[in-house]
Amino acid sequence: MKKNFKNFLYELFFPKFCLNCKREGSFLCEDCAALFEISGFHKVLKTKHLDDLYFALEYKNPLIKKLIQNYKYEPFIKELSKPLSSLLFAHLQLLDIPPPIHESIIIPIPLEKKRLKWRGFNQAEELAVELSSFLSVPIVKNVLIKKHSTVAQTKLSGNKRRENLLGVFTCQNKLKIKNKKILLIDDIYTTGSTLEATAKVLKNSGAKEITGIVIAKAKPKR
Ligand SMILES: [Zn+2]
Repeated sequence: MKKNFKNFLYELFFPKFCLNCKREGSFLCEDCAALFEISGFHKVLKTKHLDDLYFALEYKNPLIKKLIQNYKYEPFIKELSKPLSSLLFAHLQLLDIPPPIHESIIIPIPLEKKRLKWRGFNQAEELAVELSSFLSVPIVKNVLIKKHSTVAQTKLSGNKRRENLLGVFTCQNKLKIKNKKILLIDDIYTTGSTLEATAKVLKNSGAKEITGIVIAKAKPKR
């Protein structure tokens, strides 16, 4: 857990400053957070196994890219999970049709052990914890498992991404998800292959309905 310690030191000794305007105090100041064009509507997005998808904004926004980069990669600012999930809360509060929360459970996209050790935390799980307390929907862990490491998805095209994920995710403790509505949490939606692959595993294991929730969604490449 070297990484956690490094994180701890980083956050202890480096003053927090806004990643956009450099103002001291937080990693995203209120003024810069207000610059985001949070989506105020929802359109159903259904894929083969995913029933719907909610996202706060488009991933093309340079500031959201920067925040997510600093969250998932060096310097691994774990605390960014708070401003990032606030963007999601803002989106959900603007909606007429919120995601199904009645009798739902939250499941974060898992990381494999090596990746978890490298980053020190699971970025999707941190967001899921925030969302769980915001929506008052319980998180269920130890159900969805990522078995082995894959080539980083960012290096691959759409088809290759789907191949890369075949058989990578499994489900255990299936009783915990039987006939459940699941809010499946990830940081970004790029080609959708991760959410689709995990939704498939969860549906095949007895889940009733799967709704993806991510901070940002990339436009599909043509
Ligand atoms: Zn700022």
